[in-house]
Order: sequence, then structure tokens, then C-alpha cells
Amino acid sequence: MEVVLQLNYSGLTQLSADFCQYNRHIERLYLKRNKLKTLPKDIRCFCNLIDLYLPANEIHKLPDEIGCLKNLRYLDLSSNFLKSLPASIGQLSNLEKLNLSINNFLSILPNEIGQLQKLLTFEAAYLNLKIFPKQLCDCKSLQKLCLDRNFISFIPKEIVKLKNLQDLSMCGNSLVSLSHNLMKLKNIRDIYVDQNPALFSYPYKLPVTHLGCGRIESEDNCDEFCYMDVEENGQKVKLCLGDDVTSFGHPVLRPIPQLLELCFRVLSNYSSVVLESLKDQLPKELFITLTSQTSLCTVCEGVIFVDGFVVVVIKTDPLVISDDKVMYETVLCCSKSCVETFINDLPSHYRLIYPKLLEIT
Ligand SMILES: [Zn+2]
Repeated sequence: MEVVLQLNYSGLTQLSADFCQYNRHIERLYLKRNKLKTLPKDIRCFCNLIDLYLPANEIHKLPDEIGCLKNLRYLDLSSNFLKSLPASIGQLSNLEKLNLSINNFLSILPNEIGQLQKLLTFEAAYLNLKIFPKQLCDCKSLQKLCLDRNFISFIPKEIVKLKNLQDLSMCGNSLVSLSHNLMKLKNIRDIYVDQNPALFSYPYKLPVTHLGCGRIESEDNCDEFCYMDVEENGQKVKLCLGDDVTSFGHPVLRPIPQLLELCFRVLSNYSSVVLESLKDQLPKELFITLTSQTSLCTVCEGVIFVDGFVVVVIKTDPLVISDDKVMYETVLCCSKSCVETFINDLPSHYRLIYPKLLEIT
């Protein structure tokens, strides 16, 4: 039998030291919708606590002692006034579920969150995050990640470290592209990207479950390749290809990939032991590039580093969305011959947008 203490809706303004001492055997503590502004240092007494449920309080700060709750598996801090989190949160080594949603002032997460190696679910909707918290990508067990209603524009390449990720929800952000690195997440089932007004392309055959987009007027002076011109109903629109693609330059204008790219591909075929042995002899940036390819070729699944061939297609029966809104799919290929294979085998419900066939023959 679990020892549960239910004090939801009880008007509590604080937890006294005596309360903590007296209830140290409690395993589940429910404190929804009270008026707690913080937690006492004596919270460390609750060494048996598995579940701490604190939604809809007025908590703006947590004590470092929260890190003492070594058995904690579920922590719900949603709908509070948190401005920061203590680094000690990384010491909750058994935490499986962390809910921080609706803490509108929270704009930064401590790096130590990456230490939560058992974390399965992380929810942080309605925060004030301007960039994707990269440290989350160190939470290797993570299956479900919700960052809805923030202000995030790019997904970092470190996302590939989340090998167990099944659900990614980033609705209502400022995404302009979805990384091709998402293709490497073999367990991903659903990606929700509704209501990202600047998003209108995504990697080919990515399992995007919910799409919602709208046009934004792009700047005229934006990088020509980053924002590719496409024609849509006689109207020119600018398509953002995403930051991992745009680092390539204009690969479609070259008949074969750059020499540097080919060198990377040859080296990446060596065993990791050979690569490691080069670590001290190469400039750091070069070594990092060499050990973290940008994407895989859609056709042959070969690795791609800094140079590839971009194809843009569109579904002729768009699954999509409302009225005038259209979503494009971007394809990365390793070589011109893979581009040709891809185009020749293109399913009939897809139409080629870029490159025009003339350009590649
Ligand atoms: Zn290929």
C-alpha cells in the first residue's frame, strides 16, 4: 500500500518544518491549487517521496534541497511562477516525468537537466524559451518531449541523441524548418508542429502528424539558397530549407560533391577506432564535422556531411491543411545519380518542384 497525502485545494500558504518531519514516510504528496510560494529546505525529509504534485500554486523558486528527493519519479510544477530552477534538479536520478508547463517567466533551464537519465516525459509548454534547450538531448531515455507554445525557431542537430524519442510536440512556436536530423530518430512516431506560421517545408516522409502553417513574407535580402523561390499558383513564394540544409551552399549547381565532402564520406567508413585516433591531430571543428554527419541520403542512406543535393517535392493531394496553405517536402541526396533515381521513382501523388528536370540533365 502506498502512503498518500492528499491536500489539494487546501489553502496552504507554506509547509512548516514540523509538517515535513511528521510526514517523512509519505510516498505521494498531492498539493494542487494551494498558495505555496516556495518549498521549505525541510522538503529533504521526504526521502520516500515518489510523486510530488504541485500544479497551480504560486511557486517562484525551489530550494536546492529538492535534489535530495532521490526516489522521486513524478514531479509536476505546472502553472506556477517559476523564474529559474536549481541546478540540483539534475540530482533527481530516478525522475521519469517532469512537468514545467505554464511557467511563463521561465526562459532558461539549467544544464543539469541533462543529467536526468531516467526521464521519459518532459513537458514545458507555455514557457518563455527562445531556443531549444540542447541539454535535453542528453536525457537519453526521453520518449515524449513537449515544447508547445514557446518561441523556438530551430531544432538543434543534437536531437539525434534522443534515440528513444517517440513523440515530439512543438506546436505554436516560431519554427522555420524541421531538421533532416529528425530522420535519424528511428523510434519517432509523431511530430506535432501545428501553428508555426513560418514553417512550410519538412523533410520527406517525416511522420509529421499535425501540420499547420501560414505564409510569412520573407525578406528580399535573405540568402538565396536558404530561402528558395518556388512558384505556387502563379505566385512566387520563398521556401526555407532549414539550417542543416542551408549550410550546404548550392550543391545542385555542381555535378559531383566537393572533394571535402567525398573525403569525409571515405573517412566516415573507417572504424570509430581509426576516427578516434585522428582526434588529436585534426582541428576540433573538423573532427566534430567528421563524426556528426548532417543527414542520410534519402535514396541510398549514405552519409552526407557538408555537401549534398536538395530536391523539393509537393504532394499533389496534400494531406494538408486549410485552403491556401501548402506544405513542401525537402529531400537530401548524396549524389546526382541518387537525385535521378529519386525523381524517376517518385510516387505519382508527388510532384517535383526543384530542381527542374532540365537543370539536372
Ligand atoms: Zn545516395
